[in-house]
Amino acid sequence: MARTSGSNEVGEMLAERIAGLIIDTAVNSPRSLQKRLGPSEVGDPCERRLTYKLLDWPESATESDPAASIIGTGFHSWMEEAFERKQTTLPDGRPRYRIEERVTVRPSPIEATVVAGSSDLYDRATGTVWDWKLVGHTSLDEYRRKGPGPQYRTQAHLYGLGQENDGETPKRVAICFVGRYHELRVHVWTEPYDRQVAVDALARLDRIRHRVDDPAAAAADYSNAWWSQIPASDQAKCRFCPWFKPGSADLAVGCPGTQADRPARHGFESLIA
Ligand code: SF4
Repeated sequence: MARTSGSNEVGEMLAERIAGLIIDTAVNSPRSLQKRLGPSEVGDPCERRLTYKLLDWPESATESDPAASIIGTGFHSWMEEAFERKQTTLPDGRPRYRIEERVTVRPSPIEATVVAGSSDLYDRATGTVWDWKLVGHTSLDEYRRKGPGPQYRTQAHLYGLGQENDGETPKRVAICFVGRYHELRVHVWTEPYDRQVAVDALARLDRIRHRVDDPAAAAADYSNAWWSQIPASDQAKCRFCPWFKPGSADLAVGCPGTQADRPARHGFESLIA
């Protein structure tokens, strides 16, 4: 899967081994093994993808390039260190920044229904919930023109709720898009924090989960007919979906997607966030 380059046979062999190590480490990272839905996934516009995920359904796409995910993880660490260096103390004695703090968006006695995640940054001085997105420069222009889309917007407000659950008083959410480009390009989308956006997203998730847990689903053996009732979305990011299977006629095997003209590839930008 990975393309390697070496100037000779030994170089080729070493390149293969390093690429294998990178892929193995990425695939077995805690984030990759996560099955519970996190704040970055809850607002996915595609109910079918969320359903596959909730059921831990076998993935259809066999190839996953971890390169962008690794770069994104490195960027988040870099930002974490940058704000640790900028850390100051507020007049009340608390640190100004909460950096990469784990927050619980929705506590639950049932482990599988907990929604929790690591919030990139919360600035107590301004009440702003920040999220970093490292994106390609074409995507950066698109986010600048069209806004962050439902998934990223929902994620921002879910983290706002998580901060609120921790006793903070968020006033604003902000998504900072940084271009993977040879020169620095930054775009910030922001709006006032709205708890209702998060509450509505959790209610939608519950509705999807109830359909999965319905005995009728098991009785139907999660067949193609059952899957066909579950709506996809025109806004779905099929290229990055682990269940994308172009041309598939059986949703129990894989989903043909809603943008059939796009090339089959996943594991790229969607993994960065
Ligand atoms: S391939 Fe597209 S439509 Fe199908 S489940 Fe994935 S995101 Fe949804």
